[in-house]
Amino acid sequence: MDLSELYRDVIVDHNRRPRNFGRLESATQLADGNNPLCGDKLRVYVDVEHDVIRDVRFDGSGCAISTASASLMSEAVKGRSRAEVAELFAQVHRMLTRHDEAPDPGLGKLAALAGVREFPARVKCASLCWHTLNAALTGGHEVSTE
Ligand code: ZN
Repeated sequence: MDLSELYRDVIVDHNRRPRNFGRLESATQLADGNNPLCGDKLRVYVDVEHDVIRDVRFDGSGCAISTASASLMSEAVKGRSRAEVAELFAQVHRMLTRHDEAPDPGLGKLAALAGVREFPARVKCASLCWHTLNAALTGGHEVSTE
C-alpha cells in the first residue's frame, strides 16, 4: 500500500464514520460555515475553557472531503490551546496551497488531505471546517440556551 492509498483510506473512513459528529450541548461558542461552490454546510461547536478547547463537535452536511476534514480536525484540536490551533490551521493552509513542500510531520493524520491541493475546487471543501472553527473561536455567535 502506498502513501496515497493510505491517505485515501483515512478520508473514506472519516467520511463514513465521522468522529465528534453531532451537537455539543456544553458548547460555549459556535459558528456556521457554508461553501456554496460545493454545497457544504457545517456547524462547529466548541467548549473553550481557560483558552483550551475542552471539546469540539460538528454537524451539518457536505461532501466526503468536507466531512472527513472536519472529522480529522475535531480529533486534532481537542485539548489544544487557541495558539496551538492557530498554528495548526496555518500548517493545514500551507499543506493545501503549496505544491512544492511535503506536509509538515506535525500534521499527523491531517496530512491525509494533502492530495486535495491537486484539485483547487476541493481546497475550499477541506478548509471550510477550519475557517468555521476559527469563526467560532474568534467570537462566532454565542450559543443560545433558549
Ligand atoms: Zn465539498
